[in-house]
Amino acid sequence: MSTESNIIQVENLTVAFGGFKAVDGISFEVKRGEIFGFLGANGAGKTTTIRCICGLLNPTSGTVKVDGKDVSSSTSVLKPRIGYMSQKFTLYPDLTVKENLAFAGSLYGLKRKQIKARAEELMRFIGLTQHLNEPVKLLSGGVKQVVALAATLLHEPDLVFLDEPTAGTSPATRADFWRLIRTLAQNGKTVFVTTHYMDEAEYCGRIVLMERGKIIATGTPQELKEQFFPQPPVELVFSRPEISRVRAELERTNIGEAENFSGGLRVRVNDWARFEAYAKEQAGVFTFRPAQPTLEDVFLKAVSGRKGA
Ligand code: ATP
Repeated sequence: MSTESNIIQVENLTVAFGGFKAVDGISFEVKRGEIFGFLGANGAGKTTTIRCICGLLNPTSGTVKVDGKDVSSSTSVLKPRIGYMSQKFTLYPDLTVKENLAFAGSLYGLKRKQIKARAEELMRFIGLTQHLNEPVKLLSGGVKQVVALAATLLHEPDLVFLDEPTAGTSPATRADFWRLIRTLAQNGKTVFVTTHYMDEAEYCGRIVLMERGKIIATGTPQELKEQFFPQPPVELVFSRPEISRVRAELERTNIGEAENFSGGLRVRVNDWARFEAYAKEQAGVFTFRPAQPTLEDVFLKAVSGRKGA
């Protein structure tokens, strides 16, 4: 295994289906051992990119390298290194957890004894040993997702792709799942994760934001916040019940984007000078204070900045 800090290198990747570019000339790297967040709305091109990195789909143009090796010519070498929990990852409902894991292990050519030992170790790691002999159809959605994670990790991959692993699960399950993801990274695995939940993106070391096949922003959560919000968003506290009027005025004049928040407004300011002038003019109606930007703010601003691009 190479000791270079980048485990994945994507250069000018384009994937076209007919005349439609699902991925349009993107370049990025993933560092060894990091939790890398690949974010974007439905149809942004995330799954298509993952499929190229895993060697399941050939790019129309551009290159994808894992450990410095071109994926399209090294699939057999790379396959044992990669674990991919796809959105469509399915477990067999009538089989028990143990039987499902045995099946997943056999696909990677693991021996029975190895599978048994690994399955028990993994179920201990994820804290679900009590479910080993239960049929999967009796498990809750969240537990099924965690079992799918165990099946993905069975052959000890060091590069793990998780495509929307927490979609549709409860907040408690999401929190548990992220604890596992952090432990995986602490144990030296590289985790490449997609999610729609911007609060989850806060757990990632670095993030790429995708929209319609293109990268619209890259950085650590902190870097993205600083890049998109040299001036932080503000919270408006009202002394008079004029929230709707102020909200409409801020948006009509494009001074900022507002949302209702905690009995007042939270505003992503587009034009700071005009906002300050407006706040002065409205003295007695509201006061304002700076708020911490969230990754949701970053995403919305990045997308709105590209409207019409
Ligand atoms: P989601 O979270 O909904 O899966 P995504 O960001 O993963 O979104 P992709 O699945 O990569 O998006 O899809 C990107 C675009 O490419 C979508 O418009 C999708 O319909 C299209 N697409 C994906 N696979 C194919 C295919 N095999 N043939 C034609 N179009 C495709």
